[in-house]
Amino acid sequence: MSEANDYFVDTHAHLDLFGSNEDIRHIISTAGKAGVKRIVAIGDDLDSSRKVAGLTEQFARVYGAAGIHPHHADGVDKNTIDQIWAVSNQPKIVAIGETGLDFYRMNSTKDSQISSFKAQGELSKHLGLALIIHCRDAYPELIDILKEMDLGNKRFVIHCFSGTKENAKELLTMGAYISFAGNVTFTNAKELRDVVDEVPLERILIETDSPYLAPHPNRGDKNEPSLLPKIAETIASKKDIDLDLLMTATTDNAKELFNFN
Ligand SMILES: [Zn+2]
Ligand SMILES: [Zn+2]
Repeated sequence: MSEANDYFVDTHAHLDLFGSNEDIRHIISTAGKAGVKRIVAIGDDLDSSRKVAGLTEQFARVYGAAGIHPHHADGVDKNTIDQIWAVSNQPKIVAIGETGLDFYRMNSTKDSQISSFKAQGELSKHLGLALIIHCRDAYPELIDILKEMDLGNKRFVIHCFSGTKENAKELLTMGAYISFAGNVTFTNAKELRDVVDEVPLERILIETDSPYLAPHPNRGDKNEPSLLPKIAETIASKKDIDLDLLMTATTDNAKELFNFN
């Protein structure tokens, strides 16, 4: 194990939802004690993306992503995308997102989700930043759009993966990283755990998606970055490898995708 990589990276946490800066400082310190020493804070609208940018300035261990979640895609126009661009100019903003398609909740129309996603995809390509993609009940549509977009190898991640083995295989051939969250630990998630076998170690990322989706046996509680090792343990045991190896590999992957040290 290379010494520089003996820690976990939580590649997806909604840190801005954890209350005051004092509360967030506490969350980051608890995570550090659990071995989670980098956190990518995720924007899901313009306001939260600006908060995320602020957090990256305040906390050395925090990097950020600026973007508009598909739930908030209605009303996104060129001006919104320009504002995301402006936020992404901050030095520790390492990705555009989260963006994508959510045809499960349908909080925004399909048309606006698709156009908002395409615009953010083009922005990530233009800026050479990673793209963080949320997808629920929309994998065929997502794959079609990604083919058109052609982001390049290892430049995007499907966060909180919930698709099938076939979806994973196709996305991997297109250059995707696949990120697993707490749902991979749920007792009824055998199918999702089987997807883990399809994803080579050099393409796996791990995340908490906190404060949502606490892993088993904390399911239903408030999630936080310090619980990331529970997700890592599930994946390492499914792959039948040492936890240390999973940690080193996923940290390498995060560094490559997000280009941080
Ligand atoms: Zn998401
Ligand atoms: Zn999220």
